[in-house]
Amino acid sequence: MKPIRVVIVGGGFGAVQFAKNLRKKLRPADCEILLFNRENHMVFHPLLADVAGASINPDAAAAPLRQMLPGVGCRTERVHRIDLAASEIEFADGNGDLSRLQFDHVVLACGAESNLGIIPGMSEHAFPFKVMRDAIELRQHVVHQMENAEAETDAERRRWHLSFVIVGAGFSGVEVGGEINELVRSSTRFYRNFKKEDVKVMLVHSQGQILPEVAPTLRDFAKKKMEKAGVTIVLNARAVAATHEGIELNTGGMIKGGTIVCTIGTAISPLIQQLDVPKEKGRIRTTPDMRVEGHTNVWAVGDCALIINAFDGKPSAPTGQFAEREGRQAALNLVRVVRGGPTQPFRFKVLGQLCSIGGYSAVAEMFGMRISGFLAWLLWRGVYLFKLPTWSRRIKVSLDWTWDVLFPRDLGFLNTDASERITHAYYRPGDFIHRQGEVARVFSVIDEGEVEILQAQGDQEAKLVAVLGKGDFFGEGALLGNRPHETSIRARSVVRITQVGSAMFSEIAESFAPFRELLANAVTQRSGDLWRRLPLAKSLLDGEPLSPLLDPLPGKLLSKQTTLADAIQALNESPTGQLFVLDEKQQLWGTFDRNDLYQIVARIAVTPESKEADSALRTLGEILPGGCVHATLEDSLLAATATMLDHRSSWLPIVQSNTDLRPVGSLRAEKISSRVIQKIGIAPGQAKAAS
Ligand SMILES: Cc1cc2nc3c(=O)[nH]c(=O)nc-3n(C[C@H](O)[C@H](O)[C@H](O)COP(=O)(O)OP(=O)(O)OC[C@H]3O[C@@H](n4cnc5c(N)ncnc54)[C@H](O)[C@@H]3O)c2cc1C
Repeated sequence: MKPIRVVIVGGGFGAVQFAKNLRKKLRPADCEILLFNRENHMVFHPLLADVAGASINPDAAAAPLRQMLPGVGCRTERVHRIDLAASEIEFADGNGDLSRLQFDHVVLACGAESNLGIIPGMSEHAFPFKVMRDAIELRQHVVHQMENAEAETDAERRRWHLSFVIVGAGFSGVEVGGEINELVRSSTRFYRNFKKEDVKVMLVHSQGQILPEVAPTLRDFAKKKMEKAGVTIVLNARAVAATHEGIELNTGGMIKGGTIVCTIGTAISPLIQQLDVPKEKGRIRTTPDMRVEGHTNVWAVGDCALIINAFDGKPSAPTGQFAEREGRQAALNLVRVVRGGPTQPFRFKVLGQLCSIGGYSAVAEMFGMRISGFLAWLLWRGVYLFKLPTWSRRIKVSLDWTWDVLFPRDLGFLNTDASERITHAYYRPGDFIHRQGEVARVFSVIDEGEVEILQAQGDQEAKLVAVLGKGDFFGEGALLGNRPHETSIRARSVVRITQVGSAMFSEIAESFAPFRELLANAVTQRSGDLWRRLPLAKSLLDGEPLSPLLDPLPGKLLSKQTTLADAIQALNESPTGQLFVLDEKQQLWGTFDRNDLYQIVARIAVTPESKEADSALRTLGEILPGGCVHATLEDSLLAATATMLDHRSSWLPIVQSNTDLRPVGSLRAEKISSRVIQKIGIAPGQAKAAS
């Protein structure tokens, strides 16, 4: 008889136990087991903090799946879709080509993903702490920060390099905080420019206690011990934003630090999100025997599943301990199904909790006993050593740990060149992105928000030169001219930016002629260049107020909900052809003019699906990109004119202020030209010079 085919999606704690136990019970002739995992190894998460703290080598915490699972077909491929009706998975092979494969049973064990998007700026500036790459990159970065601190001459900046902020003080936050503290403090003796006192490791937690999962006595011990080791613990404070400089707290303050590690925020894997099965808080709801509700051949275990524990009637915790037991018991249930027997509900009594807090200390709750300190640390190491999947790994880790006790931690790191990277950055209103006179390091493209270009002449206070918005770029002039920035750039609203490092920028500019041309045009088109060529025009507009030249608001204001058909009609009826689009709070969201209309029509013409949908009934909120450059009533006429010149725009919406984006009118190029001509008329000498 043909063997049944069981496909397992995932290669973590749950999946490995499932595959192992199923292989033990069913012979290859009866059952083919195929395990699909994005990586070719299983990550042993409890040891990630040790990797980040350089006390073990990364390969010791990553066990190759095919060596762990003899008799199981291990495939390093990502599953893109599961078609439950057809009992098929769709996956991408090594070349990126999509293939389909039939199954008799499928096991969903794809865990959870980190989700830094829950706090503005975290995805741009913080390190997640979930997969092996996170731990390796964090370790590299921590050592790099020590090297930066050694080279830094400014004492405040040096302390910034040596400040490490960990967001979240659950198990992983405490473990990684303890490890970073240990690594940096124990390494200060190898550096000349800083001492232990300059190092700051901060744990920020929204609750009143760290480690909410363990007993109060152990929490207190952990807190005291960590504080004694130099870790600063900030309780009852939530991070509300992260920037290049540090994190902003809900209490109003800012914690500065060159390294942010975010250990909070998880999201269910995209594969599970798109699956049409019952879910609760994103996790798949299962029947007591761990089959997905409504299906007889679909199983779910681990962090992606919501399984009620028959031991206490509560949902199982998203931990490795639970995932392992679920994997094992679900495999036994599948065997029962194959043999025609009744399945059993998932039941598990938690064995205990273990958490390392750095400095050869840990807290542990095992079999009803509570221990802390060095003994708990030995227990922690012993338990995890025993839990490691293979003997080769156990020996490797024990050698690493012995080495760590006897010798200093390894400070070697790969100096990856930041100038060859693309990064993303988040700024709050008022944050400087770069300052006049600084060396140019990146080319920046604005993804969201507006920035101000400011310029100071001599000792004078910096003046607003122009405003840039979504899709605009800056930094190219200084990079191409190999000179410091001639202006400062400051965030006017919340700003998200994509930054291209200087080396990568030069390479693209040299290799791609169209990009080079675009940049050359931008440099000559920019108002700064124009003002240099037409100093009289600049002097005539300087100091002029903006409000006398304002056109009133158009009779009809559009909203994000306005349909394209209604917007076109409003455009036809408008004498200026310049319309405002407002959001739900009546703030300026975008603009709509003939240019936008031409672009929409062009898009519809080349996108077949847009033709199919009734485009005329789609709303502006769906069709337009949103965000438009604008000036405020508080800005000078000169700055508003420069903003229009920089955008080759014949008009500019004007809003109340930086914080109140209600539109008040618009500024048109003709009015500015008339004003200049009028002024030249008043001053004939100047008019002659201008000609
Ligand atoms: C830093 C850290 C420390 C931890 N410490 C502990 C601890 O001390 N004790 C404890 O009990 N728990 C701990 N945990 C929690 C524990 O690691 C998780 O609960 C456990 O890993 C969940 O197991 P899982 O099998 O559900 O998923 P995972 O172990 O996360 O494995 C999921 C796998 O699925 C793969 N995958 C996802 N989507 C796809 C796809 N579409 N196609 C193919 N493959 C895919 C992923 O690449 C991954 O390999 C820790 C977690 C972290 C992050």
